[in-house]
Amino acid sequence: MQTPFRALLLGAPGAGKGTQAARLTSKLGFTVLSSGDLLRQAISAGTEDGLAAQSYVRGGQLVPDALVGRLVLAQTEKSLLSKGKEISRWALDGFPRSISQAESLESFLATKKAPLDAVFNLDVPHSVLVQRIEDRWVHAPSGRTYNLSFNPPKTPGKDDVTGEPLSKREDDNVEVYKERLKTYRKLTELLIEYYTAKGILVNFKGETSDEIWPQILSYVQSRT
Ligand code: AMP
Repeated sequence: MQTPFRALLLGAPGAGKGTQAARLTSKLGFTVLSSGDLLRQAISAGTEDGLAAQSYVRGGQLVPDALVGRLVLAQTEKSLLSKGKEISRWALDGFPRSISQAESLESFLATKKAPLDAVFNLDVPHSVLVQRIEDRWVHAPSGRTYNLSFNPPKTPGKDDVTGEPLSKREDDNVEVYKERLKTYRKLTELLIEYYTAKGILVNFKGETSDEIWPQILSYVQSRT
């Protein structure tokens, strides 16, 4: 049996959370739940939550805590912590993004007796982030991300696994990105201190996902 490991992925928009999530999944058997993917799925399915979230996501602002918390915690309970079928290695990507979200996650996990083992902070210099956003393309149905500079698809414009067309995320443009980065600095960055104080923050520094991944890999291997 695998040693259980529960983690969060923290980092500015464009820091490579989705890329590291994909590697945690394929190389280390993690199940990763992304709040951004959950919201985008709800938006494209036209659910009530999706309709309520749409304008925030488009404008690069945080979706209200109550809405995103309900969506993410319900899915965490259902797909990661369901009784008798708990997933042993998992990570959340993009949630929490504020202290109040972190507190609601903490009390939820306490009720499930499933405390976090680590919070991975992807520390990428802000100067390289904007360029990465401009180069980012996604396969919307799966959430797989590509970067034209250092992680291009095998066939231009096509997803490696399905061959389906790639697209730009609506919020991946410079104006909206600036808004997302502002929000990140005001609210999400506070989580670095919050989890440092709890003794579970691990910092991984680098300019590209390929520099950061080996650090994550050896860290998880050393802990499991
Ligand atoms: P992401 O895919 O993580 O970059 O998220 C895309 C967008 O979804 C963000 O810019 C927010 O509008 C929204 N979002 C994702 N996660 C959260 C969260 N934890 N709290 C509030 N809004 C979120």
